[in-house]
Amino acid sequence: MTGAGPNINPGLPTEIVALWQRVSERLRAEVGDAAFNSWLRPLDIGSFRDDRVMLTIPTRFMRDWVISHYFDRIVGLWENEAGTPSKIEIHVVPGSSVTSPVKSANIGNTEAPAPIAANAMVQEAGAPLDPRFTFADFVVGKANELAYAAARRVAESPTVPFNPLYLYGGVGLGKTHLMHAIAWHIRERDPSRKVLYLSAEKFMYQFITALRYKDVMEFKRLFRSVDVLMVDDVQFISGKESTQEEFFHTFNALVDQNRQVVISGDRSPPNLDGVEERMRSRLGWGLVADLHATDYELRVGILQSKVQSLGATEVPDQVLEFLAHRITSNVRELEGALNRVLAYANLVGRPINLETTQEVLRDLLRANDRRVTIEDIQKRVAEHYNIRLAEMQSPRRARAVARPRQVAMYLSKQLTARSLPEIGRKFGGRDHTTVMHAVRRIDDLRQADNGLAEDIDLLKRMLET
Ligand code: ADP
Ligand code: MG
Repeated sequence: MTGAGPNINPGLPTEIVALWQRVSERLRAEVGDAAFNSWLRPLDIGSFRDDRVMLTIPTRFMRDWVISHYFDRIVGLWENEAGTPSKIEIHVVPGSSVTSPVKSANIGNTEAPAPIAANAMVQEAGAPLDPRFTFADFVVGKANELAYAAARRVAESPTVPFNPLYLYGGVGLGKTHLMHAIAWHIRERDPSRKVLYLSAEKFMYQFITALRYKDVMEFKRLFRSVDVLMVDDVQFISGKESTQEEFFHTFNALVDQNRQVVISGDRSPPNLDGVEERMRSRLGWGLVADLHATDYELRVGILQSKVQSLGATEVPDQVLEFLAHRITSNVRELEGALNRVLAYANLVGRPINLETTQEVLRDLLRANDRRVTIEDIQKRVAEHYNIRLAEMQSPRRARAVARPRQVAMYLSKQLTARSLPEIGRKFGGRDHTTVMHAVRRIDDLRQADNGLAEDIDLLKRMLET
């Protein structure tokens, strides 16, 4: 037996059992072994009456996944084999097919090997993976080449190349995409490897639930049993002491056993306010790779790839260039804009050109145009460096205030359309040459000083959103 439809209910008519096995085999041929083993093998036929087919699956998580990804296909194949319309339902029956890694290992269930059973548990604890977030769909440019290369290395390497891999960058720059891509790649190559992906929030939630139900042992066992742990948006773990403590121990236990850990955050480890010092320093021990804001070329590339993968109607280059030029905040917004243009053209049946694009995106373009003011910049920078706002105008030249003031001038030049003399005026009536000097100075310094470069990135991001 090839392994499809493994757990047949003995009360069922043999022709129905055979029918389900044929459906399973076709599914396996269509989706491939890896996806089949992970998601469809645990499906089982529970009962059959008239035209109603009840399938069972061990967890809700798997059910949701199967319904959203494979349900139409299952119905199609079943009806094809049965030759009549059928009503198919999928019910969660804990213990159906494979459930507990302990149980199936003990019983020696030959149809569903223990690693895959354990994987069902691990995936239940994690969050679903977005099928669009693969390496093939990730467009590489200067802004993300290091993060991409590191993610690929982690996904492809038979050993642990660096631990942890820490990915960081602003909203919508591809952190989650890369993490899912790692998970897909590993699962596809070797479905027996246990990959657990989840957000830091979900990690906390699971831990708190385990505490409440006095299930901490099980929690620990589960999280320490994975081959690859990926925790997304670690900045949300700040505060909550007991959770941080547990996170720290889980992290250390896995790293000690040479299991791969991948973490993402919205800023570099030393800047993770609210995360305990020992954790911050631990996060920086492996490879730290940041995703920068996209540049124009990368944005055009992403749009082109998206149009291609959607098999969408012709979109003139001019429109793509316009979008890449005007929507600079993040990739998510860029994709959203393209989707809106495509949807509109599709619905209204009008060709996509510059006019329709501008019309459809009027509100979005206006929001992206929202001008940052010099006052905003001064306020943010003063807060960031913890100096008084009045120092922006004061004549004091002590470095502790002069450097932040220069940063604010630099950002004013970068983020507003104001001229050097106008900027000078807002900084206590300074001369335009002083502003020019500040801009050059900061530009030079940020090449050499990572801390400063990061401060500037962070400030920019805060000012632009
Ligand atoms: P983050 O987790 O950093 O906030 P995401 O990974 O969720 O960002 O990315 C936001 C959206 O932008 C996703 O739809 C993702 O597929 C897309 N995206 C980001 N970077 C790229 C890229 N380099 N190539 C293709 N799509 C990208
Ligand atoms: Mg994300």
